[in-house]
Amino acid sequence: MRVALIAHDKKKPEIIDLAKKYKDVLSKHTLYATGTTGTLIMGETGLVINRMKSGPMGGDQQIGSMVADNQLDLVIFLRDPLTAQPHEPDVSALLRLCDVFAIPLATNKTSAEIMLKALDSNQIQNKYQTSR
Ligand code: PGA
Repeated sequence: MRVALIAHDKKKPEIIDLAKKYKDVLSKHTLYATGTTGTLIMGETGLVINRMKSGPMGGDQQIGSMVADNQLDLVIFLRDPLTAQPHEPDVSALLRLCDVFAIPLATNKTSAEIMLKALDSNQIQNKYQTSR
C-alpha cells in the first residue's frame, strides 16, 4: 500500500507519536509525505519516506496529483482546524480529490489510528483488492 502522511505544524507532534506507535505497520508500506512532516518522521523513527515539497510550497498539490493518478491508497492528513493556513486552497483540493477517487482519508489522530489498525489487519488492502 502507498500511504501519504501530512500534518499541519501544530499537529506534527501527533503525527510523530502515531508514526512511532505504528512504525512496524508503516514500515511494511511505501510512505510519502510533505516535506517538513516527512523530515521530522524520518528523524524520529528512521522510517524511509519519499518526501514531496513542503505543504505551503506545493507539497499538498503534489500529493493531490498522486491521488488523481492512482498512485496513493491511503492518506493521513492531520489538519489543524483552529489555525488559518496560507495554503488552505491546496488543502481543500487534496481533501476533495480523496473524495473524488474514494481514497481513505483520516484527518485527525483518532481516525488515523483506526485506519492504521485496519491497515495492520489487511482490511484496507482487501477492500482494494476486491473493489479495484
Ligand atoms: P509540511 O506541509 O509537512 O511541509 O509542513 C504540511 C502542510 O502544511 O500541508
